[in-house]
Amino acid sequence: MEPVYDLVVVGGGLVGSACARHASAGEGLKVALIGPGEPLDRADTEIFGCWHDEGRLYYSRKNWATWSYFARETVARFKEIEELSGVKFSEDCGYLGVAGPKFHGYNDWCKSTKEMVKGFGSKMLQPEDLPVLFPFMQIPSASLACYEGPGQGAGYLSPRKMVQAQQKIAQDQGCVIVASLATDLVRMENCWRIQLETGDHIYAEKIALCQGTYTGLTFLARDLLPPLDLTFTAQTTALIEVDTEEADRLKTMPTMVTQLEPVKYTYILPPIKYPNSKIYLKFGAHDLDRTLTTHDQVTNHYRMGPDQAHVNKLAQEASRLIPGLAIKSVVGDSCVTSNTPGKVAPFLGTALPGLVVAAGGCGHGAMGSDEIGRVAAVLAIEGRWDCGLPQELCRLQYKNMARL
Ligand SMILES: Cc1cc2nc3c(=O)[nH]c(=O)nc-3n(C[C@H](O)[C@H](O)[C@H](O)COP(=O)(O)OP(=O)(O)OC[C@H]3O[C@@H](n4cnc5c(N)ncnc54)[C@H](O)[C@@H]3O)c2cc1C
Repeated sequence: MEPVYDLVVVGGGLVGSACARHASAGEGLKVALIGPGEPLDRADTEIFGCWHDEGRLYYSRKNWATWSYFARETVARFKEIEELSGVKFSEDCGYLGVAGPKFHGYNDWCKSTKEMVKGFGSKMLQPEDLPVLFPFMQIPSASLACYEGPGQGAGYLSPRKMVQAQQKIAQDQGCVIVASLATDLVRMENCWRIQLETGDHIYAEKIALCQGTYTGLTFLARDLLPPLDLTFTAQTTALIEVDTEEADRLKTMPTMVTQLEPVKYTYILPPIKYPNSKIYLKFGAHDLDRTLTTHDQVTNHYRMGPDQAHVNKLAQEASRLIPGLAIKSVVGDSCVTSNTPGKVAPFLGTALPGLVVAAGGCGHGAMGSDEIGRVAAVLAIEGRWDCGLPQELCRLQYKNMARL
């Protein structure tokens, strides 16, 4: 007889790996995590993850309810996860938000920034203050900046290394990691049966589905539930290569978000060494011209790479922000974020008895992934909502359901 796991987590990305780590910390629990590793060749791949990169920014801005809650809880555990795994994945380099009057949310941005300055000691900076802290940087004369320095819960993390760290601890705690895709889910009399792409089966009392973007595309519970109300956004990034001398000149650079246009914003990562030994700054933005609703469109976005015009525009932004930036080369990359209605919170809930779903990171899921995964683990194993936010906020919503 095949073993029946207490919990099987499907999806070995940031949330699923965190869920597996927390679940496998429970005494005597048999836990398995099903999820493929990072694809070596995108041309042969159908399912991608948001963690195939080296830089995700994090900040725990305390007046931004849902996502800051998840980020605060997660960031507070970075050190513990790094120590337990021996894998360093975070850099506490601070965060700088920049906004200008053309940005449609500028008034709200100014209001919340003032509250943060008053309540949490963030610094409001005028363009002329900036060179004191960052002599290499220049922002438009009408804009404002809000700075959270190192030590205030802001910086960047490597999603690849964070997944590695979470899975290393999970494995040390006895979690079985199955590097495969799950292709089908069947409710048996006393347990769930998961089919793998190899044709093998795995049995579980409880399931946590953490499929990231694919929760909305190849949802494993598609025969049991209507589709979840997720939408997708194409993301374009420009990886801007600099040499070690230039990286050294920029060494105090924080992670950043600039909001200078009406609806678009740019997120910016300071110089980071990638596995190919090159050092890149990363500038990223939504590509609102590319519609993604089907699996094929998402696959094509990953496979084709981004629109070169968007990549060039991001590289120009880099040169405006850092005058004289010594660029060695620029490469584009593409990724997809999945959004819940209004991007207010992730979906995190029990879809059917013994079946929990965690999805919809809305572009903020990396920084909150450990807490989202922990809440999913407790909900799946104990059936209990163990979270500082109201459960209603994260309720699962399905497509074509009347909004009550
Ligand atoms: C370009 C870009 C920039 C971003 N920047 C930030 C940022 O700066 N800060 C931030 O906090 N967040 C950021 N995000 C969002 C963040 O990366 C995601 O919210 C987070 O990775 C979501 O975690 P997840 O585990 O839900 O999904 P993922 O990390 O995508 O993992 C899902 C996993 O499920 C697996 N899977 C899917 N289907 C199956 C199946 N049938 N069987 C087995 N496995 C399956 C996939 O292979 C994948 O590994 C960014 C995202 C992108 C794309």
